[in-house]
Amino acid sequence: MELIRLTEVGLYCETGGFHIDPWRPVDRAVVTHAHGDHLAWGCRHHLVSKEGERVTRARLGEGASIQAVPYGEAVHLNGVRVSLQPAGHILGSAQVRVEHKGEVWVVTGDYKTEPDATCSPFELVRCHTFVTESTFGLPIYRWEPQSTVFEAVDRWWRKNQETGRASLLFGYALGKAQRLLAGVDPSIGPIYTHGAVERLNREYRAAGIPLPDTQHVAAAGKADWSRALVVAPPSARGTPWTRRFGAVSTAFASGWMRIRGARRQRSIDRGFALSDHVDWPALTGTIRATGAEHVWVTHGYTATVVRWLGEQGIDARAVPTRFSDERDDAGEAVAEETEEA
Ligand SMILES: [Zn+2]
Ligand SMILES: [Zn+2]
Repeated sequence: MELIRLTEVGLYCETGGFHIDPWRPVDRAVVTHAHGDHLAWGCRHHLVSKEGERVTRARLGEGASIQAVPYGEAVHLNGVRVSLQPAGHILGSAQVRVEHKGEVWVVTGDYKTEPDATCSPFELVRCHTFVTESTFGLPIYRWEPQSTVFEAVDRWWRKNQETGRASLLFGYALGKAQRLLAGVDPSIGPIYTHGAVERLNREYRAAGIPLPDTQHVAAAGKADWSRALVVAPPSARGTPWTRRFGAVSTAFASGWMRIRGARRQRSIDRGFALSDHVDWPALTGTIRATGAEHVWVTHGYTATVVRWLGEQGIDARAVPTRFSDERDDAGEAVAEETEEA
């Protein structure tokens, strides 16, 4: 029997009696991070990283049973050693390391190897079987260093100020928005936020992540928006909420902006290719560096990555995900749409 197997509710360790990022309520869930496509509602018990406790609580509510452990600290579940190691994706994101009788599995959840200011940096963990995401698992996906992207955002913001337009920047409310805020130059002008972003900013600050001063749009009354940067979730795009800003330039920060046409498709003025996932070189480099003999590929371009691994002589298989949409961020978007008023 394999230590971890796929069931109709996701990855399951029978010996340890727990699921990892289950798709539906289960008794015991080990959760990689608080994005909607990884965090199921209604589980009896959740194990998360200490760093991720606040954002998980913000999503699950006060009544949820959450056990939070520091990165690297072992928890023994029916004799199976479980620890959470930093995944570098968003605040509190973890890879789940599972060890039993000398056999080691690592389930990444979403991960990114370029360190950023809003979460603990990714840590490479050697293992026998590596279960990896593949959101951007195509050779066309190669990221610029984030400093280059933030300079472009700053330039866009300044240029909008010169032409008297508000800068309306869309990014997922949990993770991307805070990374944008931590990366832009706050001396350029005032920064405002959508309520969904501001709620999570509070949790980030309380967890010790420094963010520049931001003001909730709804609390700002009649402000002069023409010098402002406004950070909002993608779901706010095209809604009446955006009308108050008058003349605007819109932008979307996402790995999907790497693709020509993605911006036009969304009727956005600018696209910034900033991703919280590994690009192709980082994905393939990480897989090799784990030393894994077996690789399971999930969340994204599974077929491409499985084929490439096979060509490299690595045993690989595709693992289906909860969302039929190929794109993982779609799941994150779904989760956000349901939360916003
Ligand atoms: Zn995620
Ligand atoms: Zn995901």
